[in-house]
Amino acid sequence: MAWDFSTDPDFEQQLEWMRKFVAEEIEPLDLVFRSPAAPFDPASPAAKAMAPLKQEVKSKGLWACHLGPELGGGGFGQLKLGLMNEILGRSRFAPTVFGTQAPDTGNAEILARFGSEEQKQKYLQPLLDGEIVSCYSMTEPQAGSDPGQFTCRARLDGNEWVLDGEKWFASHACIAEFLIVMAISDPDVKVHEGSTMIIVPKGTPGMEIIRNTAVGPKDEIDEGVHGYIRFTNCRVPENSRLGPAGEGFKVAQSRLGGGRIHHAMRTVGMLNKAMEYMKERVVSRQTKGERLADKQMVQEKIADSYTQILQFRLHVLYAAWLLDRDQSYTRPVRREISAIKAAMPGVLQDVVYRALHLHGSLGMSNETPLMDMWQYVPEMGIVDGPTEVHKIVVAKDILRDVKPSDGVFPSYHTPTQREAARAKFAAYLD
Ligand SMILES: Cc1cc2nc3c(=O)[nH]c(=O)nc-3n(C[C@H](O)[C@H](O)[C@H](O)COP(=O)(O)OP(=O)(O)OC[C@H]3O[C@@H](n4cnc5c(N)ncnc54)[C@H](O)[C@@H]3O)c2cc1C
Repeated sequence: MAWDFSTDPDFEQQLEWMRKFVAEEIEPLDLVFRSPAAPFDPASPAAKAMAPLKQEVKSKGLWACHLGPELGGGGFGQLKLGLMNEILGRSRFAPTVFGTQAPDTGNAEILARFGSEEQKQKYLQPLLDGEIVSCYSMTEPQAGSDPGQFTCRARLDGNEWVLDGEKWFASHACIAEFLIVMAISDPDVKVHEGSTMIIVPKGTPGMEIIRNTAVGPKDEIDEGVHGYIRFTNCRVPENSRLGPAGEGFKVAQSRLGGGRIHHAMRTVGMLNKAMEYMKERVVSRQTKGERLADKQMVQEKIADSYTQILQFRLHVLYAAWLLDRDQSYTRPVRREISAIKAAMPGVLQDVVYRALHLHGSLGMSNETPLMDMWQYVPEMGIVDGPTEVHKIVVAKDILRDVKPSDGVFPSYHTPTQREAARAKFAAYLD
């Protein structure tokens, strides 16, 4: 009987250390360094503040906890990673301090799996060491969730790839040492069969960041970290390819699943934080002679939030457990990852809204982290593919092997079933 909800005592000790370390040493960074790039930019003042913290994480053997030991990680597996990421989800800076921030995690994964020795030496090692930042660039201005509409081209000219086209929302392009770009290398076949991943180092002539887009209501254009990029006759050597030509989407598959489940794990951390705020608020605030906590409509909000968070958390950990079991993105793993990806913005919306609402005007203000959390609601519904697309994956998978009814009436048609049941129990019936 292997269903078990307990944590090994040794590992629980490590989690306890992480909780304290994140609360005392990392969460204060969120209060001081506010720019969107601060948690990632090696040139930001925050990077200097994070350096000794990274060392401490390394000395505890918790660096790059998403990776196996062959790549310098602890080889914790996904279930333990889930419990760790719940803690890291409490701060924008914690994933970087622990060497497990997106999109570098997924980029390291594909470099490790598909990169040449030269690419690994040049990019993978410094990425794993947290010395450089990378970018993954697939979305285009006219198309995101439908790659069939991508147009950015890569054509071979002698021993060079020549890129032409535009990319959109390429996170961290402005601070990245290199971009991994998905481009159409064979326009005569379907996009999924004719695209190639190509590494473009920063500063390559012909690559231009048109502007940096921000998430949320930032006043200044160009304040964000999501690059709108144009390639014009941008040339890189043929061996800049990551994986075989035409197989860019196969390479991409091996990174996207990980990114999605890690987001969901960290979202549990954010949900827990919103719940903590909500609990403190309702036992502290008085109205009409009693605490908010004593009002039944408030109690309903607490109970619903608790149940939704627990359900979501268990689903995320179940998906992690499946991934540990199968060790690859099998069909059941992909279904559960899409299911939690689709559920994530809804749970976040419900819980963060209740927390905001129960704080009244203070909740709406810039004097608690709640409005920052609110911005993650739509973000989690879009990043790594919109909710609808993930629901389609879940529904198709659930329905794939379901057989239609034999006749006009379904297999569970009561009169037909009753006839069979009566025959089965005929000896006992008059
Ligand atoms: C914070 C953030 C970071 C990102 N970082 C990166 C990055 O680093 N690299 C990168 O390449 N991209 C990145 N993206 C882009 C992201 O992958 C795309 O935004 C996403 O795939 C959706 O594409 P789109 O924005 O073009 O929306 P569209 O594809 O235009 O979809 C818009 C809406 O149409 C509806 N819709 C779409 N398809 C269907 C369907 N099949 N059925 C029903 N309704 C549908 C949904 O409501 C959807 O929200 C990032 C996005 C965000 C928000």
